[in-house]
Amino acid sequence: DAHKKVDTKAIQALDAKHYMHAFTDTKSLGQVGARVIVKGQGIYIWDSEGKRLLDGMSGLWCMNVGYGRTTIADAVHAQMQELPYYNSFFQTTNVPAVQLAAKLVEISPAHFNHVFFAGSGSEGNDTNLRLIRRYWDLKGAKERNIIISRENAYHGSTIAGASLGGMSGMHDQQIGVTIPNIVHIGQPYYVEGGKGKTPEEFGLVAAGWLEQKILEVGAERVAAFIAEPVQGAGGVIIPPSTYWPEIQRICDKYGILLVADEVICGFGRLGTWFGSDYFGIKPDLITFAKGVTSGYIPMGGVLVGDRVADVLIEHGGDFNHGFTYSGHPVAAAAALENIRIIQEEKLIEKVHNETGPYLAKKFGELNDHPLVSIAETCGFVAGLNLVKKKGPTLHECEAFDSSLEVGMICRGHMFGNGMIMRAVGDRMIIAPPLVTTVEQIDEMVGLIRFCLDATL
Ligand code: PLP
Repeated sequence: DAHKKVDTKAIQALDAKHYMHAFTDTKSLGQVGARVIVKGQGIYIWDSEGKRLLDGMSGLWCMNVGYGRTTIADAVHAQMQELPYYNSFFQTTNVPAVQLAAKLVEISPAHFNHVFFAGSGSEGNDTNLRLIRRYWDLKGAKERNIIISRENAYHGSTIAGASLGGMSGMHDQQIGVTIPNIVHIGQPYYVEGGKGKTPEEFGLVAAGWLEQKILEVGAERVAAFIAEPVQGAGGVIIPPSTYWPEIQRICDKYGILLVADEVICGFGRLGTWFGSDYFGIKPDLITFAKGVTSGYIPMGGVLVGDRVADVLIEHGGDFNHGFTYSGHPVAAAAALENIRIIQEEKLIEKVHNETGPYLAKKFGELNDHPLVSIAETCGFVAGLNLVKKKGPTLHECEAFDSSLEVGMICRGHMFGNGMIMRAVGDRMIIAPPLVTTVEQIDEMVGLIRFCLDATL
């Protein structure tokens, strides 16, 4: 009954008057009024009108253990009473942050033994930039200062995050403030670039763009390659199986650092602790955020692999970087309880063995829909491409006139029918909470099909 306490119109009016929303046209939002979300439980949220919505996006890809976890609230409450805050700058530490660092080392690939804490994924990637530059500096290779990223990547919204990211919208608005020496290569998006090739052939071609770029700018100039194991905000771009092994080979060949931005893929999203485990890659740095606390409290950071940590710790002296909230004890307490839940409820094993394969099957059935050119999943992320008219092959379909059309059609129907799904270009995507059951997958895919039918 949380909605009964809320005066929707009054909140919307205040919202329109004072609140500049992230990634939003505040003026047009003010005209329609923001939907006021008042409660969450499991995989559902409720708005102030009492309408229930199935949250197929886990908030913003973060609500891994689902809403309404009272044990996380309890852990946070207890920690706030004991020690709500202390910094980690001046030779002090705190118990939850230390325990969390040890826990993260335990669940991450074997060559990770150090953690740098930050407040978000963006700050994690700012930290990466510093770590990368410092590493090459200490190695006596200052000239290695070019970072290669990918078009359509999302690495955050700070200047470093947005510069590393490859979304044209964010770069266009940032003329003059993007960081130099960050270059981008194409994304491994089979729908877009794979015409006339098998996915496996295309995966090698797309990985080859990394080597081409390295040779173009000069191998001795390249510091690192950064990428999301599965590109998330860019539209759940699932790379062909050949892509990551070839990327790893190229990074190894030229000695460049590999950074896996696991802000979405980390903490079970692909049915493994990290996307790096899923694809069998060995990054030097891993960015994390979101799923580390399931979004209950902000936290992010970087897992620092031995190659970088050894140099920085042995030879670096002071590392002049950090945030007020690095290693925040309350966030760490939330993360520890969140990870305990993931382990106790075997959520990752479930996604890997049971619900992930079930989602693949059910979501895959949408491939028969006349508006869908491809429906594909990887663990608990999924994307489908909408087309105006199906063709004989994936690459011979008739696209909608504009991606806006896709967004409008689908978003309208989805929200109206109680389903949260996101539109990115021609693609509709989901990333449900890891606690979603097979029955709820039926409900979710049923809702998606219903909404697609309604748009025909
Ligand atoms: N990296 C990736 C892969 C992300 O998906 C995001 C957020 O969506 C970020 C970084 C930025 O994280 P934050 O919004 O916590 O700064």
